[in-house]
Amino acid sequence: MTDMQKKSFGTMLSPIRAGQHMLRNRVIMGSMHTRLETEPDSIARQIAFYAERARGEAAILVTGGFAPNAEGMFDPEGPRIDDPEDARSLRPICEAVQAEGSLICAQLLHAGRYAKIESCVAPSPIRAPINRIVPREMTDADIRRTIEDFAKAAKNAQAAGFDGVEIMGSEGYLINEFTVIHTNKREDEWGGSAENRHRFPVEIVRAVRERCGSDFLVIYRISAADLVEGGAPAEEIADLARKIEAEGADILNTGIGWHEARVPTIAYQVPRGAWRQAAANVKAAVSIPVVASNRINTPEIAEDILASGEADMISMARPFLADPHFVKKTREGHADEINTCIACNQACLDFIFSDRPVSCLVNPRAGRETEFRESPTESPKKVAVVGGGAAGMATASEAAMLGHDVTLFEAQDKLGGQLNLAQAAPGKDEFNETLRYYGGQLQKHGVKLRLGQRAGSDDLTGFDHVVISTGVTPRIPDLPGVDHPSVATYAEILSGNRAAGDTVVVMGAGGIGHDVAEFLVTEPAETHNTDAFCETWGVDPQFTTSGALAGDPLAPKPSRRKVVMLQRKTSKAGAGLGVSTGWILRNALRKHGVEALGGVVYDRIDDAGLHIVMDGEPKIIAADTIVLCTGQEPERALAEDLAAQGVTVTMIGGAKEAAELDALRAIDEGVRLAQSL
Ligand code: NAP
Ligand code: SF4
Repeated sequence: MTDMQKKSFGTMLSPIRAGQHMLRNRVIMGSMHTRLETEPDSIARQIAFYAERARGEAAILVTGGFAPNAEGMFDPEGPRIDDPEDARSLRPICEAVQAEGSLICAQLLHAGRYAKIESCVAPSPIRAPINRIVPREMTDADIRRTIEDFAKAAKNAQAAGFDGVEIMGSEGYLINEFTVIHTNKREDEWGGSAENRHRFPVEIVRAVRERCGSDFLVIYRISAADLVEGGAPAEEIADLARKIEAEGADILNTGIGWHEARVPTIAYQVPRGAWRQAAANVKAAVSIPVVASNRINTPEIAEDILASGEADMISMARPFLADPHFVKKTREGHADEINTCIACNQACLDFIFSDRPVSCLVNPRAGRETEFRESPTESPKKVAVVGGGAAGMATASEAAMLGHDVTLFEAQDKLGGQLNLAQAAPGKDEFNETLRYYGGQLQKHGVKLRLGQRAGSDDLTGFDHVVISTGVTPRIPDLPGVDHPSVATYAEILSGNRAAGDTVVVMGAGGIGHDVAEFLVTEPAETHNTDAFCETWGVDPQFTTSGALAGDPLAPKPSRRKVVMLQRKTSKAGAGLGVSTGWILRNALRKHGVEALGGVVYDRIDDAGLHIVMDGEPKIIAADTIVLCTGQEPERALAEDLAAQGVTVTMIGGAKEAAELDALRAIDEGVRLAQSL
């Protein structure tokens, strides 16, 4: 029995009553935008997506947000539930989930001033910083009609077979816009005092409860920390929570941070469980179940929050993309087999922001369930995989799971390849969970591991299929003085084989350049420490102040190192970073005083430092250390050797194409190749 199997997750797995329902455990799959609603075969794909997560035993699944009316749509294509006929088309999804023993609730989300549609509305005509459209101020009649629209939408959901609804009152959407002075400047009965600002959500909950009866589950998602100036203080949040309870809500879920907030809330830079105190504040005010959410991604942290009494339930969204069977594996004593969400946002939020249906970096099946088979192969093959980085591990474990006889060669004495470097960046040690997961899968499915063995052509005879996933090596630019002792590669710095001095030049401002710069300016004690995180980003650790802010999230946070990051392009540094994490990295570096310079021409390196030309002027940047983050080259020596001998190989990952290689592409290619063997 592993240490993980010995751990108890008794609170998380115990049933709990919510309204008229006895829930099978204390885990909710939180709402996520999936974009599956507008895909071809939409219903079939949603059935596959949600039913798989119900098989994984979450007590309640909350769908992505459905607008209760046309103005509330997130974008012109967004899902809505204002037409009873359309709503009925969702019945097979509900039935598939209920057949697996979970409840399913439709989230009702009115996007308010975040709606990317010309007809967007808000309590006051104040444009959101993340939307170019100025909202129209709602009239009293609009407000009353919208309350009625929420009630009708809930009724439509009920008629379609949903067990309940979640009313989205957080994240800066319409309801949240009414509750705080940041966005509600009204002087009628819907604005001004807290009593007036709370009237809109209170009346919505009342109308939904009245329309749908007592056994329909009503979850209200309250904003437990707005993280914007003019947000609600804790006593107003508690007051609203009590009113919502009095109107008959069964569960209070908590939301953290508006979408326009300048504080990271769910990315890997946020310590696990950072927001638990915000949920605890709500729980202290009411007696219905309160749900903690955001940056909870393991059964350990979930159990810890529940057992400490800070919340009654846990909502996890992305962790159910990474592993639909999170709860089932925990219940069966296999928590160490959970594929953990690493909070990278790369295939979930960043896909949504680029109009693609949701998926997951560590689990390419997510949102693509109908494209993958689970059943064992009928023609098992003998497969060699050379290179045990992300691509190789994914290929080997998937192929072995499907019944192939797999041998994995890795030249280093440990698996992981580039993931071993990536995990050194602040917060990216979440990748260690991916390494733990694949290590377990390789063992479970009987992959023969040849660690510390650089495979040669002699080792690769007798296989039906040879997969080359030998990865990449750091690119060394052709520059006079690049062999100067002050020069190090990103691999040397991140692996700890070389230490950087106090003044550092980072050459290259791509993903790795940003990671290295953040690594260099962040003290180890700053990561995984909620107090340090709150101090860095201006958050009140007790979550009592207005908006739970205690300072300017962008205030400088000087570092003991002076770091300059360079690129030859004239575009904004980090322009290619992920939409949902790039702004955090850029702001973190700015706060730490990292200077980013573009349009640079590299000349040479010598004892004086890095010689560059900028705006036609020669300059010298003195540095103790110059770190090369100048891209990668594919590692193809073995593949070329084998090709010369007439051996057929399949190349994947960085070996196939080094440009823009990341773990997302590596794992996706590996899993898909294994499926095609
Ligand atoms: P990258 O994003 O392509 O950046 C490479 C950098 O090197 C660029 O700034 C490029 O800028 C510079 N460069 C390229 N060739 C050069 C040369 N011969 N001499 C000098 N400079 C040169 O690649 P990466 O940073 O190596 O990252 C690899 C992949 O991992 C990328 O897909 C990246 O998106 C991903 N990744 C993402 C993150 C993240 O999003 N947080 C973190 C790590 C990695 P100039 O040509 O303008 O100088
Ligand atoms: Fe989590 Fe990253 Fe997967 Fe999103 S893509 S669910 S953040 S692991």
